[in-house]
Amino acid sequence: MSVLDEPLFFSPAPLPASPRAARVTLVGAGPGDPELLTVRAERALRRASLVLYDHLVSRDVLRLVPEGADLIYVGKESAHHTLPQEDICALMIRLARSGRALVRLKGGDPFIFGRGGEEAQALAAAGVPFEVVPGISAAQAAAAEAGMPLTHRDHAASVVLATGHRRSEAGVLDMDWAALARPRQTVVIYMGVSTLASICAQLTAHGLGADTPAALVERASQPDSRRVVGSLRTLPGLAVLHAVRSPALLIVGGVVGLHATLAAPARCALAGQPG
Ligand code: SAH
Repeated sequence: MSVLDEPLFFSPAPLPASPRAARVTLVGAGPGDPELLTVRAERALRRASLVLYDHLVSRDVLRLVPEGADLIYVGKESAHHTLPQEDICALMIRLARSGRALVRLKGGDPFIFGRGGEEAQALAAAGVPFEVVPGISAAQAAAAEAGMPLTHRDHAASVVLATGHRRSEAGVLDMDWAALARPRQTVVIYMGVSTLASICAQLTAHGLGADTPAALVERASQPDSRRVVGSLRTLPGLAVLHAVRSPALLIVGGVVGLHATLAAPARCALAGQPG
C-alpha cells in the first residue's frame, strides 16, 4: 500500500456514551461583561434549564438564564473550594446520566486555567457527550481595556499565559523563570495577586530590567474594573497601596507601556507610571 493510501488524519474512536446521558455544554462566560459573551454562549444560557457555575461568573451573565432554571453554585475561590474538583465532575456526570442537559458555566475561557480541561476529561472518560463553547479570557479583556496589545510587533514576538499559583512541594513558586524572562515577550499571569512580589523579584533576578513595564488589571470588563501601572520594581508596592484584589491579571512587558495612548478611560482610575 502506498503512503497515500493511508488515511492522513485519524479521529479517536468515539467513546461509548452512556445510553441516557444528556449533553453537557461547557460554556466560557467571559470576563464578566455579558456583552463579551459569544453568541453561542448567550444562546446556551438563554435555553438552559440547569446551570452549574463558578465563583468568577458575573451576576449580569447569570441573569440571562431563564427564570425557573436551576442554578447550582459550585464555587472555586482559591482556598474556599465550595466543592472539590472531583465532586464537581462527579455531580456533572450524575446529572447528565439522569438525563438532564446541563450548562457548565466557567469564567473566561473554559480551557484557560480554571480546570475546564479536567472537567472535559472526566466527561469523556465517563462517556458523557459534551461540547465546549469558548469564551473571552481575562487576558484578552484586560489587554483590550487597558490598551496593551499583547503581541504588538514593536515590543513582543510572543505572549505567555502562566499561573502564579503553582507551588512546588517545598512551597516555592514552581515556574520556568528563565523562559518567562525572555526578551520581546509579553507575560500574562493569572492568579498572581498574592504572589506578586515574588513573581516580580524572580523575573528581575532572571534578566528582565527592574524598569520593565508591568500592570495589574483588576476585574477587567466589569463596571468597577481598576488598573495599576508601574514597573517590576514599583508594582508590588502600588498593589499594596491600592489594595488590588483577585481577580486581577498581571501583565509584564513593553506592550504595557502602550497603555498611555491606547487605554480606554479607566472606570476607576488608579495612578502609577512605568519607571
Ligand atoms: N478561565 C479563566 C481564568 C480562570 S483562573 C479565563 O480564561 O479568564 C482565575 C484567574 O483569572 C483570576 O485569579 C484572575 O487572575 C483571572 N481573571 C478572571 N477574570 C478576571 C477579570 N475579569 N479581570 C482580571 N482578571 C481576571
